[in-house]
Amino acid sequence: QSLTDDVDSGAATMPLPQSDERRWSDTSAYARKKILQSWIQLPNGNWELGKILSTSGEESVISLPEGKVIKVISETLVPANPDILDGVDDLMQLSYLNEPSVLYNLNYRYNQDMIYTKAGPVLVAVNPFKEVPLYGNRYIEAYRKKSNESPHVYAIADTAIREMIRDEVNQSIIIRCICIHESMTYSISSSSGESGAGKTETAKIAMQYLAALGGGSGIEYEILKTNPILEAFGNAKTLRNDNSSRFGKLIEIHFSESGKISGAQIQTFLLEKSRVVQCAEGERSYHIFYQLCAGASPALREKLNLTSAHEYKYLGQSNCYSINGVDDAERFHTVKEALDIVHVSKEDQESVFAMLAAVLWLGNVSFTVIDNENHVEPVADESFLFHSLGSWCWKQECLLHNMCLSTVAKLIGCNINELTLTLSKRNMRVRNDTIVQKLTLPQAIDARDALAKSIYSCLFDWLVEQINKSLAVGKRRTGRSISILDIYGFESFDKNSFEQFCINYANERLQQHFNRHLFKLEQEEYIQDGIDWTRVDFEDNQNCLSLFEKKPLGLLSLLDEESTFPNGTDLTLANKLKQHLQSNSCFRGDKGKLFTVVHYAGEVTYETTGFLEKNRDLLHSDSIQLLSSCSCLLPQAFASSMLIQSEKPVVGPLYKAGGADSQRLSVATKFKSQLFQLMQRLGNTTPHFIRCIKPNNIQSPGVYEQGLVLQQLRCCGVLEVLCKGPYKRFFIIAILHQFNILPEMYQVGYTKLFFRTGQIGVLEDTRNRT
Ligand code: ATP
Ligand code: MG
Repeated sequence: QSLTDDVDSGAATMPLPQSDERRWSDTSAYARKKILQSWIQLPNGNWELGKILSTSGEESVISLPEGKVIKVISETLVPANPDILDGVDDLMQLSYLNEPSVLYNLNYRYNQDMIYTKAGPVLVAVNPFKEVPLYGNRYIEAYRKKSNESPHVYAIADTAIREMIRDEVNQSIIIRCICIHESMTYSISSSSGESGAGKTETAKIAMQYLAALGGGSGIEYEILKTNPILEAFGNAKTLRNDNSSRFGKLIEIHFSESGKISGAQIQTFLLEKSRVVQCAEGERSYHIFYQLCAGASPALREKLNLTSAHEYKYLGQSNCYSINGVDDAERFHTVKEALDIVHVSKEDQESVFAMLAAVLWLGNVSFTVIDNENHVEPVADESFLFHSLGSWCWKQECLLHNMCLSTVAKLIGCNINELTLTLSKRNMRVRNDTIVQKLTLPQAIDARDALAKSIYSCLFDWLVEQINKSLAVGKRRTGRSISILDIYGFESFDKNSFEQFCINYANERLQQHFNRHLFKLEQEEYIQDGIDWTRVDFEDNQNCLSLFEKKPLGLLSLLDEESTFPNGTDLTLANKLKQHLQSNSCFRGDKGKLFTVVHYAGEVTYETTGFLEKNRDLLHSDSIQLLSSCSCLLPQAFASSMLIQSEKPVVGPLYKAGGADSQRLSVATKFKSQLFQLMQRLGNTTPHFIRCIKPNNIQSPGVYEQGLVLQQLRCCGVLEVLCKGPYKRFFIIAILHQFNILPEMYQVGYTKLFFRTGQIGVLEDTRNRT
């Protein structure tokens, strides 16, 4: 029985294992167990705590907090926990484990800034959207000494260090949010997505603890400084989160035998390239662009011919330049300092900024029609001005007189004529001949944007590589490490494209890892323990993963195959998927370019528009050639990294289609292999799971939307962990109920049972009587 089934049927409680003693539907049981409080579900789906005044037959009379008295069908009541269990540290300590009780407990703690709660083995973190006094040296010290044992990221990080040393096993801290399914939202939110749940902040808090405990060599300082850099280049303001990560990240922190940090390595996943050239109203492109425009020194501005963010078309299209409470100029200085610390030389830094400026200026290149077949060319710079002002012109002049091309050429160090040619013509190799094709306006815009996106993503990769070089000081690896994974959660929007397709595929893999770890291990433990329990089948998502990965007839293979066909279109792709996958229970073909995948977290309908192009991710050979001809080192490095990639033995398809002759791995194939590597790496570690919860969609402190939180808990398996895991607990509770011991009289720990004073006596009496 799945949790989502329950949601749909409108039933109030989660499915519990048979003979659940925590939910009584018959009123006599209520009376017998002397339950005084109960949860009542209001028409809006929220839960309210009521006092049971009387129960007769099938109805109960309940008084609600505002004094209202209502009659309800007894069966719909869900027992509430006694007050003494309010705000327990671990949800497992609740005597009645049901959705409203879990929600209430998290809310109770959240109101007191206790944002962390254990859910058995999982740490749940509810985003406070404000500064909470839970961090810093005093707290770190307290967790290190174990004088503070309340749930915390620090406690997780501490356990990871201890277990790494004790067991000599690598550890991982897997931080994920909890999916939200748009169509399942209660009524509160129109926008959805777990973005902004607090994953990145949580990862930083974990790093902070590891750095404090494993510090000493100074490398920990460098590791912490990678955060402002990667956030500047890989995060952006979105409608959901002012500092949204647009890439996934795994940081592996290496430790020496004595438990000191000796180095680190960062791996990134799937940067959202399209944001460089396009972003939605009210969102921003990557922070670094605005930081550069706001914070560059006059000398740097002059060198890069830099103007204000408002003057750049790539930045102007979304009508959003600033973020409340954020000083971009100040952030720019922080980033520069951080770059110093990770040993990116001043010279290299300047090249990085030149690449950013080149991307911005590239966006300002416009096109003009040159013949009656609608072929275009970039609008030429006004050369008289160019000459009259010398090789560099003032920015205003530049804008007025369209000096974009010469500026880009200067910044990347290429010949202006070659740049113009690359943006207006394409060389196609047909057998042994080369044919020159003139570009139409959409083709030229594509070529320009593709070049801008490639420069940016190569720059991002290059930076990560530099950081890794700097952090690889501890070459004598002992093999011990703690990895922290901060990766996007399941996404389901009104329209879902290639990005959601990849992200959700990744989440299927991660969910399987989570499921397998928690449930399979648990099952095995029970079997080993000889406990006679009814086998509970947790939902394994292997079917859905097979739908993606099966060869040759899986989503990824079929996508790659269609990507190699010159005449393949988004529609032919959709048809192909429907033709081959219709019989798979996790797949449904819909009309036109739509298809639906039944994910663990719910159904998502994807639209194939743009799939092929995004999967091919072609940069035409002309553009690669242009970059390799540049006199500046960075563009040359970018070109060779692209060429190296194309020379590698190609596991995926070869792309010879459409005039692009670089042979490259498809994006999906590359992502899949990254993901396999990731799972392999995580598979060799002891995992620690943190689930971040977003309590509201307005990024405000103190607002706890029950429906929103509930959905997040339901999709991620946390409730399942709670409900299906604690079998031993159920036995104990069942026995205690048998002896009429009230829930407020005891608490069940992991290994011990705690009674209030006098209760042991009651049990002893009962034993003596029987
Ligand atoms: P995305 O998926 O978009 O990257 P995310 O889950 O990484 O989102 P964060 O960027 O970590 O979300 O958090 C969003 C915001 O929430 C932060 O910028 C910060 O303002 C606030 N926040 C998160 N966690 C905390 C915390 N522990 N204390 C204070 N504020 C927090
Ligand atoms: Mg993030």
